[in-house]
Amino acid sequence: MDIVVCIKQVPETNDIGWDPKTGTLIRESTGGILNPNDKNAIEAALQLREKHGGLITAISMGPPQAEDALREALGMGADKAILLSDRQFAGADTLSTSYALSLALKKIVRFDLILCGKESSDGMTAQVGPQLAELLNLPQLTNATEIIINSNSVRIKQKLEDGFRILKTHLPVLITVEREMNQPRIPPMDSIMEAYREKDVLVWSVGNLGGDKERIGLKGSPTQSRKVYTKIVKKGEITLLEGEPDKVARELIQILKQRDLL
Ligand SMILES: Cc1cc2nc3c(=O)[nH]c(=O)nc-3n(C[C@H](O)[C@H](O)[C@H](O)COP(=O)(O)OP(=O)(O)OC[C@H]3O[C@@H](n4cnc5c(N)ncnc54)[C@H](O)[C@@H]3O)c2cc1C
Repeated sequence: MDIVVCIKQVPETNDIGWDPKTGTLIRESTGGILNPNDKNAIEAALQLREKHGGLITAISMGPPQAEDALREALGMGADKAILLSDRQFAGADTLSTSYALSLALKKIVRFDLILCGKESSDGMTAQVGPQLAELLNLPQLTNATEIIINSNSVRIKQKLEDGFRILKTHLPVLITVEREMNQPRIPPMDSIMEAYREKDVLVWSVGNLGGDKERIGLKGSPTQSRKVYTKIVKKGEITLLEGEPDKVARELIQILKQRDLL
């Protein structure tokens, strides 16, 4: 069973730069880490490969330094890595990101399963997985905490706000995974060294993907940021409520009503 895992490099700090003209993140100026939720997707892929065999390809769209996230995926055990990197991808919103990924997936041709994290730790829209499934005309199973594959059929345990439900479909499918699905493995040092010294990361540009250039990057992004600002957290606004739970709850309701929050 061949699996593609979509991974994103995210800033390792909140201290990030913004381009005031476009309202977009200046990702080149920040150090990056592999999106924590995507480690769960990689771990899920590794466990499925242990049971069913096949190849795991990790793919990411990002600036050149996103290669580090792909090397980490290779260190964890992915077989191949592809980086979509080109200045023309810059300023992509979620739709344009999903479009570029969909073109790459069409180029990969052979896959049974696409795994994504549920969400990134920076953008946190949780849109890329579902949009990618739509663009590839694939069934999608979201928020999985368990995946069971039996021949051509796929079953997941889906996390809901107030419980779980079981969903079934068939391969090929796109699944987004929750963080509680597994505990990502920490790769041994020799795998990390091998990932850096002996494995390749393929780099694909816009030219390699083909597709409609009007749907790529900022030009292809219907979402435009109107204003970007840093939230100022005022100190000294903490009200400590103490006493019996009933009394505290009543006081809390009063305060929330006074502030028009209830
Ligand atoms: C107008 C606009 C301009 C933007 N400009 C920029 C910019 O210039 N530079 C910039 O870095 N960001 C930019 N962004 C943010 C960019 O759109 C998001 O980083 C990207 O679309 C992913 O969305 P998300 O972080 O919400 O991911 P989610 O949808 O929350 O991610 C879910 C899952 O999708 C997969 N995934 C997400 N992103 C990628 C990826 N890039 N490659 C592979 N898999 C992925 C992962 O599995 C991830 O766990 C811009 C956003 C907007 C709205």
